[in-house]
Amino acid sequence: MAASGLLEIEDARRLVLGAAMPLAAEPVDLRSALGRVLAEDLSADRPVPAFDSSAMDGFAVRAVDVADAGERNPALLRVIDESRAGAPARASLGDGQAITISTGAVLPAGADAIVPVEDTRRQDGRVEVLAVAAVGAHVRRAGDDVRAGQAVLARGAAIGAAELGVLASLGAATVRCSRRPRLSVLVSGDELLMPGEPFRPGAVRDSNSLTISALARGDGAEVIGSATVQDEADATVAAIAASVKGADVAVICGGVSVGEHDHVRPSLQALGAQPAFWGLALKPGRPTWFGTLGATLVFGLPGNPVSAMVTFVLLVRPALRALLGLPPQLRRPTAVMEHDYEKPAGRAHAVRCRISVHEDGWHAEPTGAQGSHVLTSMLDADALAILPTDAVAVHAGERVEIEPLQPWTGAPL
Ligand code: AMP
Ligand code: MG
Repeated sequence: MAASGLLEIEDARRLVLGAAMPLAAEPVDLRSALGRVLAEDLSADRPVPAFDSSAMDGFAVRAVDVADAGERNPALLRVIDESRAGAPARASLGDGQAITISTGAVLPAGADAIVPVEDTRRQDGRVEVLAVAAVGAHVRRAGDDVRAGQAVLARGAAIGAAELGVLASLGAATVRCSRRPRLSVLVSGDELLMPGEPFRPGAVRDSNSLTISALARGDGAEVIGSATVQDEADATVAAIAASVKGADVAVICGGVSVGEHDHVRPSLQALGAQPAFWGLALKPGRPTWFGTLGATLVFGLPGNPVSAMVTFVLLVRPALRALLGLPPQLRRPTAVMEHDYEKPAGRAHAVRCRISVHEDGWHAEPTGAQGSHVLTSMLDADALAILPTDAVAVHAGERVEIEPLQPWTGAPL
């Protein structure tokens, strides 16, 4: 708790993580598993590669037959068969013999080395070997990549391109993944205009529906609904009741503060929601509410467009990660502040920054005016610099913690 009586963002995050349990697993076809999270440990039932094979196009030989070979003293071997990728040789290799071989083809029985085609001269039915090849030369061994029985991927692994490839190489066709969190978005405000609606005095175009849905999808959630409600008590109760239905996470934006027309908190109370916190020592993002309603995690985020995005990244994203079974990100990377930044003590500041790469690592440069209504400050932002609650000034050259704005794991398509 900060001196102001507001909750520190790290304490808030802990409360959120304490309430977010991994969702059940479901089978997922490997072809649709990009961006999903493994809910099982996977090991190999056979080695990868499955057999000894050639790493080069050339000839499979016995090393002993080419032990004295050189440009001026070629070893002459009889070519008795061919081993192609997918079509192994039938013959096994004897004294003075060679088998033509392609990259990836099975190493024939009796052979113990590969001579690359560049080190040979082809004759009719024979091959001249112009260089020695030691035992094992250019041979890939079975199990070089994965041994039989080896544990390869663990529960909680985010499935990206490399994971998909490794799972395919293990022969997995279907993998068990955590179910994607179902998330609903509800925006509140009499002033809100939906896309395409003509402008009217005092109106504000709704951006939160889009930013929050987009962030949620990027973090692996399935957005199951997006609704709008007027600043009216009964309508707000009904809209919240509808938006938690079937949702693992309900995000409500706006109307969560203390104004006469802010109906979200009283409505949540009327519906029997269990509050965990309200009020963060964070700028932007002070009027943030979190609690549960039945099995649904409910976030009441501030309506200001930047505050909504910032509090989503700092609190809803960790919840989605936990629901997916991803490990919590306990430490933040750091970056060097490019400019002095002054702030009063009392709340941590989440400063939108561009990140650039320098000799001493990442540098952070604020994107400009930092008002919570200045949504364009998010346009070029790569990260939030998190300036601690008690800090009053950060000087150029000081290192600060940063929260990357892009999710760290692959996003579902
Ligand atoms: P509130 O949190 O309802 O007090 O709203 C704070 C500010 O955010 C007000 O200026 C609202 O007009 C604005 N706001 C609320 N919801 C949205 C939204 N969905 N899109 C854009 N601005 C919003
Ligand atoms: Mg409002």
